[in-house]
Amino acid sequence: MIYFDNAATTYPKPSAVNRAVNNALLLYGANPGRAGHSMSMRTAEEIYRTRSEVADFFGAAGPECVVFTPNCTASLNYVMKGILKPGDHVVTSNLEHNAVMRPLEKLAEKGITYTAVEVTPGDNDKTVDSFRKALKPNTALVVCTHVSNVWGIRLPVERIAALAHQYGIPLCLDAAQSAGVFPIKMGESCDYLCVASHKGLYAPMGTGILVTCMEKNLDTLIEGGTGTNSVSLQQPDTLPDRFESGTVNVPGICGIHAGIRFVKTRGISRILEHETLLMQRLYRRIRQSPKIHLYTPEPDGNALGPVVSFNVEGMDSEDVGAFLAKQGVAVRAGLHCAPCAHKTMGTLESGAVRCCPSVFTTENQIAGFVSALRKIL
Ligand code: PMP
Repeated sequence: MIYFDNAATTYPKPSAVNRAVNNALLLYGANPGRAGHSMSMRTAEEIYRTRSEVADFFGAAGPECVVFTPNCTASLNYVMKGILKPGDHVVTSNLEHNAVMRPLEKLAEKGITYTAVEVTPGDNDKTVDSFRKALKPNTALVVCTHVSNVWGIRLPVERIAALAHQYGIPLCLDAAQSAGVFPIKMGESCDYLCVASHKGLYAPMGTGILVTCMEKNLDTLIEGGTGTNSVSLQQPDTLPDRFESGTVNVPGICGIHAGIRFVKTRGISRILEHETLLMQRLYRRIRQSPKIHLYTPEPDGNALGPVVSFNVEGMDSEDVGAFLAKQGVAVRAGLHCAPCAHKTMGTLESGAVRCCPSVFTTENQIAGFVSALRKIL
């Protein structure tokens, strides 16, 4: 199979990740922090090492700022629902995934309003200005995607964060499509970082991360056992326990550890360069056909991340996806859980066919994709 559905989750995972997950089941099989026996302690230590690795990777103040969650959606919900109160206003963008939009719509039922500002690809001044104009005295949060999972458009989040900070507003970053590909630094890029570790960090599905040291502003959504201070009926105030009730996904967390080490060893700039080069090749080859509609300039590894979405004239995107699947090519067609991003580009009706590479994508796979697409054309 030629796998171009890496924006949904990366596949394959590095063999070190496969081994780490397997080892976790063998070596770290006891509930961490729940008992004093050696396997429980060993497991807790490995989880702590993973927290340290994540904190180091994103420049967090310490390992305790790293919370393991089931996915990026959960991380975003923890932040938005934890911070926002009736009467608050939120600024977001017109490129958001439903992991941002649906919680915002739900919060609207409680009297929380939002403004989705227009992102101008290639003109960061204009984009930052749109964010500035949308701020109101009651704006309590800016939440936005780092890189659009449909169009690859990268938002100037460092500038948006600096702007928000001028007014004492925190920024929550949806880094589902960017973590492991573009640099992210806590404080400079955001205050709340939401990561889909099963994508660019090559961890197993069912893993996500929330990084923050601003937990005091966040109410909890889930309360329960943490293995610490069991005598208290109150949820702990301290991180990471405050947001990690219940048994954690130990094999998944061990996979995050191995995944981050893999990404660090490869180097994110080299990963970005590799993926960008391949997407440029793909873009240039498919652009030659007058029947292919492309919606953005070619990926440049800067304003545009390594994702290419397109349509074939006269064909439904889902049909193109189904045809490619029959040829052994895995893409994602349709709306990619991001109807707002499609509305922005005028593709809400048609959807689009999305190709996203990973560190494992090869030139041969690009050639295989292009020849499968030629059969359709
Ligand atoms: N935001 C964006 C931009 C995404 O691409 C995705 C996943 N496709 C999510 C949020 C949600 O991530 P998860 O599936 O880990 O909840």
